[in-house]
Amino acid sequence: MPRSKNNPTLTNKQILQMRSEIQKRYRKIKLSITEYLNLSLGYYAKEPTKTAIFIDNNLYVVNASVNYTIDGNQLARVLTRIQEIVDENLINGGIEKFWAGKFVADMYQMGTNRAFQNLSTQSPLYSQATSLESLLFSDAYIRRIGLAYTATFNDWKGLADNLKSELNSVLSGAVARGINPRETADIISKRIDISHSRAKALAQTEQVGALRQATWDETRRTQEELGLKTGLLHMSALKPNSRATHVARHGKIYTVEQVEEWYEENGNRFNCYCAQVAVLLNEKGEPYNQSSVDRLLKEADEWEEQTKRASKNEVKT
Ligand SMILES: [Zn+2]
Repeated sequence: MPRSKNNPTLTNKQILQMRSEIQKRYRKIKLSITEYLNLSLGYYAKEPTKTAIFIDNNLYVVNASVNYTIDGNQLARVLTRIQEIVDENLINGGIEKFWAGKFVADMYQMGTNRAFQNLSTQSPLYSQATSLESLLFSDAYIRRIGLAYTATFNDWKGLADNLKSELNSVLSGAVARGINPRETADIISKRIDISHSRAKALAQTEQVGALRQATWDETRRTQEELGLKTGLLHMSALKPNSRATHVARHGKIYTVEQVEEWYEENGNRFNCYCAQVAVLLNEKGEPYNQSSVDRLLKEADEWEEQTKRASKNEVKT
């Protein structure tokens, strides 16, 4: 039975690795775009006026103090190059060699490995019938890794498209209205930072999601192919900012279908640090190790008590 309280998914290291890769890529986007625009946008000063530009519901009030000297065709070429820079850094390699796919697939493998270890210690029948090699080279496994690559690629393509369209609007607006190049660069930099934050959240959701998916898949396979009664034990990270609805499931056992449904609802899958652990159940559908489960249920109660106390203190001060 799992013990780690603060990080049941034990994924921090992998999440930080992917984050630093993302940071490297976004730095390069910013640097390349800034350098390129400095070289390719000619302008001369004019009488300054105030103007405003809306990007994705954000209003930027800026100074229109220049006339840009590029024509429509030249602008089109500049915009194309900006789009290329974004793509080169976020979705290069295509689906097959996708950089982010590798991180997500690694998490899927880690999840499969963990579910395997977990079920092996709980059931001699399982450990006799299953080897880790047979799992990792099975058709089902290879197909799922392929699905993970495709899903991840699509997510990142969406993110890249969104950034491209925002940079497009900023630049077209800036050139049309003669917005000061320094302020234009500033808005571009802010939009890149916002996309960077989205990318970090996306990566976390994908990585932890793949880890969970692997557990669900192996739990289901154990039930269907080996006929062993299994369930998923929910474990919250019990962080101070965990959602109460997530903590309420801590120590409770669900079917794979119930867990999948729950993750489709109310944005539960976003920013979720919860984990599920495959557990073997008896004929009545109860876990063999009830005392471990009781301990988890007690932890959930304690979290609730602490959270109540903390919110009371906040009101007082
Ligand atoms: Zn959660």
